[in-house]
Amino acid sequence: MSINSMPRRGASHLPIASTKDVTPVTKKLRFIKPTLPPWTSVDLLYRNAYRSALITNGELVARFEAEVAERVGVKHCVAVSSCTSGLMLGMKAMDLKGEVILPSFTFFATGLAALWSGLKPVFADCLPDTWNLDPADVRRRVTSKTAAIIGVHLYGNPCDVERLASVAVSARCKLIFDSAHAFGSAHRGAAVGSFGDFEVFSLSPTKLLVAGEGGLITTNDSTLDRRLRAARNYGALVHYDPEMQGLNARMSEFNAALGIAGLKLMESKLERHNLIAARYDGLLREERGLQFQVIREGDLSTYKDYSVVVDPLKASLDRDALAAHLLQDGYETKKYFYPPLHQQQIFKEFHSGRDLPLPVTERISSGVLSLPIYYSLSRTIVRDICQCIRRGLRTADRKEISQ
Ligand SMILES: *Cc1c(COP(=O)(O)O)cnc(C)c1O
Repeated sequence: MSINSMPRRGASHLPIASTKDVTPVTKKLRFIKPTLPPWTSVDLLYRNAYRSALITNGELVARFEAEVAERVGVKHCVAVSSCTSGLMLGMKAMDLKGEVILPSFTFFATGLAALWSGLKPVFADCLPDTWNLDPADVRRRVTSKTAAIIGVHLYGNPCDVERLASVAVSARCKLIFDSAHAFGSAHRGAAVGSFGDFEVFSLSPTKLLVAGEGGLITTNDSTLDRRLRAARNYGALVHYDPEMQGLNARMSEFNAALGIAGLKLMESKLERHNLIAARYDGLLREERGLQFQVIREGDLSTYKDYSVVVDPLKASLDRDALAAHLLQDGYETKKYFYPPLHQQQIFKEFHSGRDLPLPVTERISSGVLSLPIYYSLSRTIVRDICQCIRRGLRTADRKEISQ
């Protein structure tokens, strides 16, 4: 239904008692709809914590950490209040100073964490196939000030871990992964979370494993683990005298209960996201002007997001026109991630005309369109979305021809 055919009368004209009965005129498909664990499973876990009034610093966070460490196959997991705070504390705990190289094609929290840690962000380009950080471009941007490289497993697609590690070794810097999208991903048979000096997952509602809010830092470094436990607790672990500039970035017991219960849904969510991605692939593969993210042989993505890149030279419709066309039919989309960081107001100053350009990032970011993907998304809706995309592209084709 178009905007023009919507009733003009606003809700304010309706009797107050009935406003909540009004069904929306336009049926809009939500972009994201988290699937939470059954309340009974959360209740069962949280009940004791609540009864004993131990709702922070209790057993559930410790249990959640142990279950995650085991699942990922690492020595340590430190639960924190968010992925952003986890990245900040990790960099602080390693006492990093100077520059950090990170992709420009990511969510801005990656760059914000660097700024909060007092590091200068240096943006590197991404690869044209996986859309992840390009190791060769990272190497070109290494200086004597480089303290760390942050890779982002974009939408859950594992980074080129080995090549990034070899750049980090020759640059003698740390290697960190912002794994916000990638809880459940695997690279060459090893779980994401086991790479670099540390990795950080996010548990906020747009990700697969949801704990309301929260982050998980995974590492095999026992010294870092101890520092992180101090860092999330104001910087003080034993003495009433902080050893470092920490934060209160603890996870509450309730968030841990949600996380533990949510772990049980991971296998079916992963399977479902991969199935939906395969359906999109199958239905859109042949469309002229669309490009797809490559998941390399032997890797497993969570497909936290499923995105296509609209190539303005080959498609008859640009990304924004396609998004508008989908919205007309009630399908909400997102531009993950546009604009890229180096074009955002607080990061602009860190990328000047003197720096090496970021052509792949700019091309992908200006054409990227993320389509709905979540556990309860039906096969019919995926088909309808693809039909709508094809209609959009083909109608525009005809117009072009008749001009
Ligand atoms: C969501 C996200 C974050 C932030 O995670 P929070 O837990 O909300 O702090 C960081 N990086 C990327 C790439 C993200 O998508």
